[in-house]
Amino acid sequence: MATSHISCAMCKRKYSDNTESVTEHFGYKADNERFKCCIRCRAKSAEQTEKVVVCENCGCVRNGKSIAIHKRRYYCQTYNMEEKPDFEIWLKAQNYAKLPWEYKKILDGDFTVEDYKNYIG
Ligand SMILES: [Zn+2]
Ligand SMILES: [Zn+2]
Repeated sequence: MATSHISCAMCKRKYSDNTESVTEHFGYKADNERFKCCIRCRAKSAEQTEKVVVCENCGCVRNGKSIAIHKRRYYCQTYNMEEKPDFEIWLKAQNYAKLPWEYKKILDGDFTVEDYKNYIG
């Protein structure tokens, strides 16, 4: 009889599909549904969130998950520029797909630059 396997959605590692193995390697959510990613991967992503990273552009301190978004922001990108471009001019020159959502909103006209400044305080 062939043993069936289930694989982790993230690392693709295969585990035996039985209650004991699933409990050990995946665990269950509150509604008894199995987690899609194995315990190793979930631990790794928790570690990333907590890891403290110093931005090499501007020197500010972030956690492992927010650093990528942080680096796309005006503040970080223009930190070392002697003459900072006007925010709106800078914004229009960026790759839209890579922008944080609130910058997209400004370009889409859902947010004014003033709204944005109020939003970030
Ligand atoms: Zn995994
Ligand atoms: Zn930075």
